[in-house]
Amino acid sequence: MKELKEILNTVIKEKKGYITFLTGAGISAESGIPTYRSIDGIWIKGTKYHKPEEFGTYKYFSKNQEEVWQYNLFWKKLIEEAQPNSGHFAITEMEKLLGERFKLITQNIDGLHQRSGTQKVYEIHGSKQKVRCSKECSEPINVPDNITFKEYTEDLTPDDIDNLKCKKCGNWLRPHTLWFDESYNEKYYHFDTAYDIADNTDILFVIGTSGSTALPVNIVETVKIRAKWIVLINPESDTYFDYILRGSKTLHSIQESSSVALPQLKNMIEEVINS
Ligand SMILES: [Zn+2]
Repeated sequence: MKELKEILNTVIKEKKGYITFLTGAGISAESGIPTYRSIDGIWIKGTKYHKPEEFGTYKYFSKNQEEVWQYNLFWKKLIEEAQPNSGHFAITEMEKLLGERFKLITQNIDGLHQRSGTQKVYEIHGSKQKVRCSKECSEPINVPDNITFKEYTEDLTPDDIDNLKCKKCGNWLRPHTLWFDESYNEKYYHFDTAYDIADNTDILFVIGTSGSTALPVNIVETVKIRAKWIVLINPESDTYFDYILRGSKTLHSIQESSSVALPQLKNMIEEVINS
């Protein structure tokens, strides 16, 4: 296996394409945020128990808006209480080092990358920091300040319900996140941009994501087909990405948590730039 520093030296000094980071739940888990599936697994309201594939859908929301909002405001509370970790901060430093060549695509909807100071973030599954009209009458907006976060046993108040209605048309607002029964698009989820970035990437760092959703898999496959470097950073070594990249000559694996591996990577990039 070619040494990572040698790869970085070639990519940074001889190429001009993007240096792209693709992040998933693993980096947020190190900040104490449970993965989507694990928390949906514990979401129990009354006596109901939901599978994420049924609960995390537009279909479910369209019939149970209050319940979905209770869940989302509970989730939002967990996010607010979490802090970015050394992995997030290392990515912010790498953005400063790499300038325009730096691209960050994230599956995460918790906003921790922005809170650590990263400027340019493409959120391909949306953001829990934003809401939009469920009838799509206007652009996404930040979650209104007057909405209070909830314990998972708490009900919405009449004021909450009022605040969760679109100011323009009076329909329910919805979380600005991609549900299981919805499709990616450019307008909300940077679909075309993500492909464009993948097409022009010289090295892709795949961090804390296992390949369970479609667009991240397509990004990795695009970079693989173009025979550009792919670096997997994950404590697990038997993910779907390991499977589809097995035997690839342009694969480099770091079997390590992102909070440990990313600060080391940042130091290495700094050394290469300054050498
Ligand atoms: Zn509206």
